[in-house]
Amino acid sequence: MARRPFVGGNWKMNTDRTSGAALVAALVAGCGDLAEGVEIVVFPPFPYLDLVRRSLGESEISLGGQDLSNDANGALTGEVSAEMLLDSGAQWVLVGHSERRQRMGECDALVADKLLMALESGLSSVLCVGETLEQREAGSSSRVISAQIVSALDHVHPAQFQRVVVAYEPIWAIGTGVVASPQDAADAHAAIRDALTSRYDSALARETRVVYGGSLAPGNAKALFAQPGVDGGLVGGASLKAPDFLSICSAAAFGVAAR
Ligand code: PEP
Repeated sequence: MARRPFVGGNWKMNTDRTSGAALVAALVAGCGDLAEGVEIVVFPPFPYLDLVRRSLGESEISLGGQDLSNDANGALTGEVSAEMLLDSGAQWVLVGHSERRQRMGECDALVADKLLMALESGLSSVLCVGETLEQREAGSSSRVISAQIVSALDHVHPAQFQRVVVAYEPIWAIGTGVVASPQDAADAHAAIRDALTSRYDSALARETRVVYGGSLAPGNAKALFAQPGVDGGLVGGASLKAPDFLSICSAAAFGVAAR
């Protein structure tokens, strides 16, 4: 069965009530029937989830949180639970983003706990993996990515894993304007599917959507999405401009279908 392309827009710590509402309004107005061919999810900052949910209205675009707690509830100042995300209308959550791994010190074990909490609560999840520039230059990209996959999925049952999209996000490409070459992305995505085959089986690895993230833009999306193993993207900077984000969604819808 063909994998349905997926494009996520990670707004990170950007927008405010006015610009967030305007961005969603532009996405809804410009989306047309694009969401029939590609699954589109926006990940606004927590305080705007409800606002964005209301602005999305009946649109086919889905809503996600950028992070969640590995605990269900309790005395954890500043944390946001899976139930709170669901209660705010989110169906998706990002887990393991490199900015959280590197800047907030999230280790593989915490990423695994968060992923399990998300899936057990009924959320779908984008699991982010990727290597640093040093690891790439040392020739250990595949090993690093595979280890991240194995660790994150240690306790994830195959039935739960069907609600996971894997995002290959080389850290050297995030927010840098340096994009992975289509061949780099194809190699990394193949390594991810090999790791999924070892963890589960080849059928599940084949069915899993693996998307690329790192300086995606309208000008480079088409070539990346033409690679057989690249099923769409996770978009940071370009997701803040509706025409750019929609252009990337369109490249995923048509590029993935055409190959
Ligand atoms: C990201 O942080 O997930 C990302 C891909 O960012 P950017 O597109 O800005 O590189």
